[in-house]
Amino acid sequence: MRTIGHWIDGRAVNEPGRTGPVHDPARGERTAQVSLASAAVVDSAVKAAVTAAGTWSQSSLSRRATLLFGLRELLHTHRDDLAAAVSREHGKVHEDALGEVARGLECVEFACGIPQLLKGSHSAEVSRGVDVHTVLRPVGVVAGITPFNFPVMVPLWMMANAIACGNTFVLKPSEKDPSASLLLAELVHRAGFPDGVVNVVQGDAEAVNTLLTHPDIAAVSFVGSTPVARHVYETGTAAGKRVQALGGAKNHMVVLPDADVEAAADAAISAGYGSAGERCMAISVVVAVGPVADPLVDAIAARIPGIVVGPAAEASSMMGPLISSAHRDRVRSYVERATDDGARVVVDGSAAPAGVDPAGFFLGCSLVDGVRPGMAVYDDEIFGPVLSVVRVDTYAEAVALINANPYGNGVALFTRDGGAARRFGGDVEVGMVGINVPIPVPVAWHSFGGWKASLFGDAPIYGPEGIRFYTRPQVVTTRWPDATPSAINLGFPTNG
Ligand code: NAD
Repeated sequence: MRTIGHWIDGRAVNEPGRTGPVHDPARGERTAQVSLASAAVVDSAVKAAVTAAGTWSQSSLSRRATLLFGLRELLHTHRDDLAAAVSREHGKVHEDALGEVARGLECVEFACGIPQLLKGSHSAEVSRGVDVHTVLRPVGVVAGITPFNFPVMVPLWMMANAIACGNTFVLKPSEKDPSASLLLAELVHRAGFPDGVVNVVQGDAEAVNTLLTHPDIAAVSFVGSTPVARHVYETGTAAGKRVQALGGAKNHMVVLPDADVEAAADAAISAGYGSAGERCMAISVVVAVGPVADPLVDAIAARIPGIVVGPAAEASSMMGPLISSAHRDRVRSYVERATDDGARVVVDGSAAPAGVDPAGFFLGCSLVDGVRPGMAVYDDEIFGPVLSVVRVDTYAEAVALINANPYGNGVALFTRDGGAARRFGGDVEVGMVGINVPIPVPVAWHSFGGWKASLFGDAPIYGPEGIRFYTRPQVVTTRWPDATPSAINLGFPTNG
């Protein structure tokens, strides 16, 4: 069976040792095995990154920008290959995978502006003959640990800015869909980046824990579920590292009575069932305010039969399978339990839709009405094609519901009321807000990050916050020798 290995110091590396299975989720078939790095393999990747950091951190900004422009072109040329690699192991349909590649590319395009982004600041003549300037220095070797649901985009969220800032990078992708990371590393190599600037170690918790405590890792970027994000943040910071750890989500979409019901239903369908609900910015709860509830539930339910569920290989497919049989069964259990908990299953998608390979990890789309906090279908991040509807009477109740939720990743408001739209952001404790936009993933020149249990640490990812996270400011105070006579002064420096 084919083994998917590591990429260390500019070449593919295969070491004997533990392995994990990789599946084609559309056929339920095991297609490869992935190496699970031992601490020794992780250490060799970190060593390569340390060695490369010596010269890479000193490289000129124009060289870095030139290489990044080249990488951007290669990624663009290979976007279909990257998308195909994602679809084969993740299962998402081709257009969706292409969308992920495009959003990752956006982060590389942002990083191409690194000469401008690292400009720092300068104060002339802070005291007589004294200037001060701030330089943004790289932090060293950065680790990136990524989830299964965006095997191209999330690594690029991290890698592009990390290396643009002069750091070197060790990626530990999800062991569920590892191939895209190797294609990324190969393209980085072909773009001309020096060996060791980008390394990939495949693996599981052992590799992650080795990175979190490795003395030569300066900073860790993590994206994944909340329990692991908490563990990564606590372990990494205890080991003295800078850590940003993005966690899970439960995103609400509030629909006010004045909203365009048809547009809101389209948005709920797209954001709830796109990528089979396996997006951290997926809408999982529609909050219907007052009389909009009945027409909205009807409009969503009427659209569900039109969603074609099938393998990525078929052009007509709109929604692919889930990542694994275990995850499919877990998602299904929420729909099965919802009725007992007192909710109403309006559309039951818990059986595999007709026409798909029964061995594949497919589910249909489910719509559950009458959901309330305290029910498992509301309380847990399901990460599947299950949309809940919570009915409330007022805008204030909708806001209270959102703010009582432990997560704070994304939220959306659908309305024609400018006043409500304007105050909404100030009312909700959520990091990313959409007004008539159901998936408000920020563009690459803003930054991405939730609040509360959706982000541990104070640093959102990519964009300007990414540059801040991957650099340390150094402040240089300079006095050039001049004719001013010098004198001893034991007092604290003051400016005059
Ligand atoms: P996960 O937490 O299971 O895995 C993420 C990474 O952590 C993987 O590389 C995995 O190998 C590693 N890992 C898993 N268990 C570990 C452990 N016990 N110790 C150390 N490392 C461990 O997440 P997933 O299932 O791959 O991805 C889905 C989750 O990611 C969802 O909760 C989703 O909301 C979240 N997510 C969040 C964002 C965001 O931006 N906030 C984006 C994408 C996904």
